[in-house]
Amino acid sequence: MAIETVREKVMVLCHLNGYIKYGADGVYYEGSILKKITIMRKTALSRLLDRLYQLFGLDKQKSEFKIFGKYPVDVSPDLFTYVHFPVLNDSSLETMLEVPRNHPSVNNLEFYLEAQPTSDAVVVPVTCSSPLESPDSSSKRQRITQQEIVDNNSGSAGILVKVVNSGALKPCLLPRLWIDDDHDMHLGLCFKDRDELKKAVDWWCIRRRRNCIVRETEKEMYTFECVRWKCKWSLRAARMEEHGLVEITKYTGPHTCSHEYPNDFESEFAADEIERVVRIQPTLSIAELKKWWKEKTGYELQTSKMRDGKLEVIKRVFGDEDQSFRVMPKLISAFHSSNGLLVDWQYDLFPNPDFASFRGVFWSFSQSIEGFQHCRPLIVVDTKSLNGKYQLKLMIASGVDAANKFFPLAFAVTKEVSTDSWRWFFTKIREKVTQRKDLCLISSPLRDIVAVVNEPGSLWQEPWAHHKFCLNHLRSQFLGVFRDYNLESLVEQAGSTNQKEEFDSYMNDIKEKNPEAWKWLDQIPRHKWALAHDSGLRYGIIEIDREALFAVCRGFPYCTVAMTGGVMLMFDELRSSFDKSLSSIYSSLNRGVVYTEPFMDKLEEFMTDSIPYVITQLERDSFKVSESSEKEEWIVQLNVSTCTCRKFQSYKFPCLHALAVFEKLKINPLQYVDECYTVEQYCKTYAATFSPVPDVAAWPEDCRVPTLFPPSQQLSPNT
Ligand SMILES: [Zn+2]
Ligand SMILES: [Zn+2]
Repeated sequence: MAIETVREKVMVLCHLNGYIKYGADGVYYEGSILKKITIMRKTALSRLLDRLYQLFGLDKQKSEFKIFGKYPVDVSPDLFTYVHFPVLNDSSLETMLEVPRNHPSVNNLEFYLEAQPTSDAVVVPVTCSSPLESPDSSSKRQRITQQEIVDNNSGSAGILVKVVNSGALKPCLLPRLWIDDDHDMHLGLCFKDRDELKKAVDWWCIRRRRNCIVRETEKEMYTFECVRWKCKWSLRAARMEEHGLVEITKYTGPHTCSHEYPNDFESEFAADEIERVVRIQPTLSIAELKKWWKEKTGYELQTSKMRDGKLEVIKRVFGDEDQSFRVMPKLISAFHSSNGLLVDWQYDLFPNPDFASFRGVFWSFSQSIEGFQHCRPLIVVDTKSLNGKYQLKLMIASGVDAANKFFPLAFAVTKEVSTDSWRWFFTKIREKVTQRKDLCLISSPLRDIVAVVNEPGSLWQEPWAHHKFCLNHLRSQFLGVFRDYNLESLVEQAGSTNQKEEFDSYMNDIKEKNPEAWKWLDQIPRHKWALAHDSGLRYGIIEIDREALFAVCRGFPYCTVAMTGGVMLMFDELRSSFDKSLSSIYSSLNRGVVYTEPFMDKLEEFMTDSIPYVITQLERDSFKVSESSEKEEWIVQLNVSTCTCRKFQSYKFPCLHALAVFEKLKINPLQYVDECYTVEQYCKTYAATFSPVPDVAAWPEDCRVPTLFPPSQQLSPNT
């Protein structure tokens, strides 16, 4: 049929030697020579190459092509992103030529072609010496017939070589192997190797009276930065697998920093020194860095200065959002080998399974897992957005320690928060972090979470766990539906009171004011959100204090995304919180204190509070406690550790009324304090120690994780 015949032919746009760029739709090409050919869907690579030599007028003996295709990868049923797909043989060519059939919306194929001299041809060197002065320069000129080498400034040694097309139609074989000293650096410039790049950049800097330093941040990845602290000029280059050259991949310019001698020389010196060390050992803690500084210089450096200095370096070295995805597996495996980190990756493989786009990474430190065994059986989970280009999400699971502080347990960074990512997060916690039964899980009443918790086989429903909602999250959900702050405030009061009668009265208020709102609330089981209906599973924790919960992740907003930098700073926070928690409790231990603040504060309140309670025994274990002035009374039931104020059972330590009973009966109240509030448990929680993480150079490769690229982004229909 006619239609079939048309489909047998494929139109291909060929880009020769331009720049490979990445945009919202994935890879695209710019600044290249563009030609169009039509080929049959079943074409051998050798046949295509013949056509290409012909098309671009190149000599098969002197140059060779590397071919890449723009290959669509599905992001969702009707959206895709383009990846750079190497065409190496007949079968990869066929894969590309099948694209229009598989993606009806793709009419034309696009190929990116790199024409390079064959191995026996001579590459025009970009060096500091003019090839005109070198002994064999004339032979070079003869062999590269299509080009003319122009000496830009023959008067001085060490000028850059400029390669200029001699004829407008003849393509330049090596258009990206030179650097124009009249212009700023730019992306996509390529060099034969590091030395060539370094010489070119050095010279370019010398001409501008600036100095820069280069570091190999990873194998074959180079970062050039100005020696002036605070100057933002930087350039990154890496050897690219696709063409084997060292290419400028990131450039922050132009270089306009002041030539003046720095005023604050000493602090610049400190900053430079800190930078030197942090680059090599980015996981050194502030305390370790301060110690190192003291040993080196003999004087103390302020903690804030050290912290700022370290942060600045982390931002510089690990602040690149795109690179972050490639560096993260190395950092994670360094944590794994040094500190027993437990980890799980999620990614979407590219057609070439050595590469993938990032979907998520879950991790938990073994020290936290050990410590959690000594915390009350309660886990809080929440999520927050990280800033930055990829709008990644951070998920956190945290326990609560004996002093009622959050004890971070597990984390994940994901490209999105969905039913799938919550299922993954919850499953990994059960697999890697804790198998404890009877856990109280406190979360937002988000539909995704509720769905996952209630899925068949979930280990987050009874008897494994009791799912409760955070009152804060519930209130904001309520507000989103009813948009009434007065009602919302009633919800808050209903949820946080310990008294069932008060709960009922607030609910009645809500019902009178807005029956729909009452209905909305009433369909949520009360024991999931109201303290008055909680049997003590939540230890009185009715809301998630998000600021405190995410305190361990303070580093993230500073580094805009920089997942890698953020995780590094988080490691710092976690480790120093272990140190601080333990050292803070030592003084208590020395003073013989056995219980932590929540209970000790209550005891203090009781002892300083001179309310005269009247105690009447009702039954063997049952006492009436009344406060004559207030005309209020409570019933304390000792055998079941309850009081009608419900605080005794909620917090799992005696309320004021129970303490009054104990005092009257000369009973030691400590036997009624839950073990989770003891200093002993607190010490055990923070007992594990962290090991030093090796230098960046010694970070192991994680061979189980493919090379990761940023997550594929879903485009909004407007763009
Ligand atoms: Zn500078
Ligand atoms: Zn009470």
